[in-house]
Amino acid sequence: MSDLTTLQHFIGGEPAEPASGDYFESTNPATREVLYRAARGDATDIDRAVASAKKTFEDPRWRDLSQTRRGHLLRRLGDLIAENAEDLARMETQDNGKLLREMRGQLATLPEYYHYYAGLADKIHGDFIPTSDRQVLNYTAREPLGVVGAITPWNSPLTLTSSKLAPALCTGNTVVIKPSEYTSATVLRLAELALEAGFPPGAVNVVTGFGAEAGQALVDHRDLAKISFTGSTATGARIAAATASRFIGSTLELGGKSPNIVFEDANIPNAAMGVVAGIFAAAGQTCIAGSRVFAHRSVYDELLERVAERAKTIRIGDPLDEQTELGPLAFADQRDKVAGYVDLGRSEGARVLTGGHATDGGLGGYFYEPTILVDVDNSMRVVREEIFGPVLAIMPFDTEDEVLRLANDTDYGLAAGVWTTNLARAHRMAARLDAGTVWVNTYRAMSPMSPRQGFKTSGVGVEHGTETIKEYTRLKSVWINTSEEPVADPFTMRS
Ligand code: NAD
Repeated sequence: MSDLTTLQHFIGGEPAEPASGDYFESTNPATREVLYRAARGDATDIDRAVASAKKTFEDPRWRDLSQTRRGHLLRRLGDLIAENAEDLARMETQDNGKLLREMRGQLATLPEYYHYYAGLADKIHGDFIPTSDRQVLNYTAREPLGVVGAITPWNSPLTLTSSKLAPALCTGNTVVIKPSEYTSATVLRLAELALEAGFPPGAVNVVTGFGAEAGQALVDHRDLAKISFTGSTATGARIAAATASRFIGSTLELGGKSPNIVFEDANIPNAAMGVVAGIFAAAGQTCIAGSRVFAHRSVYDELLERVAERAKTIRIGDPLDEQTELGPLAFADQRDKVAGYVDLGRSEGARVLTGGHATDGGLGGYFYEPTILVDVDNSMRVVREEIFGPVLAIMPFDTEDEVLRLANDTDYGLAAGVWTTNLARAHRMAARLDAGTVWVNTYRAMSPMSPRQGFKTSGVGVEHGTETIKEYTRLKSVWINTSEEPVADPFTMRS
């Protein structure tokens, strides 16, 4: 225990010990080896971090920094991430079990998040409003909100944190991040890199710890101007209620149960690979997982055969090995949750075509086989609820109207995939699918330039793209009388 790495909070540009003196352990899910212990944050630590962020927010050295200069800092941070990409990728792979090859891919594009917002930083401004009273000058100004709280999950800590951090800093806010208790390491490193890039101490703070302790305390903090949250719909609902009663804004990126629809005119080999990528990449631990596949009855057998064939040959193993295709689930409870859902599916009448078992991957870890459920329908819980694991439910359909009804028959609305060579049909489906992102003949494409929004219970607000600027600013309207004349009639409103 004594030689284990100890991670502290990061507050005011420095490591900070937890007020309670308590730490918790974080484990490599592929091997169950304990990786480090991290500070167990509570309300006192959150209070310190928010005070530090508030002090920096009010400091003229940050408040009055030119937007051009803010852009330079973001660009530098993106460059530093690129320089540290391999270390960050390995760190995250060991923390949450994501494949190193996937993490290398994520790290290759992660600097773009900061470079994109670096480019936007000096293009944020208000407008001149030509009201009918030309003696009165009216203009608007976009102001930062203040201290932004960012709460993130374990499945892609660096990327999902960057989706919040880059626009929040771009618009002049300061940030307190509460990463998932399963993945503290890379987010702490990111905060160090922000300091190294030149952001002032207190601009980026991290308090590690559990949701019910540190997370709740952050949401409840009176000096918070906004919460940006990515995680489960259940936690998102609690945060939405807490922020609504205090009239502070929230951006919520939540769960999904996304349909991936294969039409009879699709390129079936490509569609089969898209289905595999949609559900088995990252062991299904992505919010956008294409966990419900609808295949036209005429191509159902062929598609199923291709997907099952590939699923059976997926290489399970050490996520650090470049040859591995499926890593572990991120922790024991997640593995048990996935196993529980497959058992539930069996009891609901589903047939397990491939997979259906937990395994230790030969490493002692929390692995689960790529699993395909057939003989399922939209009424079953395995088809309605987010499993967040490598479990696919596949169903046949006959007509476009029918599949639209089935695809939209869900509480979620995060994403959807469509496989077709019919251009008109592709546009019809994109228009009628009730999902914030629609992919046609591809799946899991994403860019910091492209806005994304969860519909229905999948979220509130937008991440990525220029729309985000509105999420992290408030709009002020300023009226200036340019006349020296007294007001003609004090009892009449000027318009
Ligand atoms: P989670 O809701 O359990 O936890 C997310 C974060 O919230 C963690 O940091 C956790 O500590 C914190 N938290 C938990 N309870 C809290 C509380 N009462 N107050 C404040 N914070 C609290 O989610 P998870 O299991 O870590 O992540 C998986 C979920 O995230 C899935 O549902 C997935 O779909 C979703 N997700 C969504 C997106 C998206 O962009 N829509 C992306 C990735 C993951």
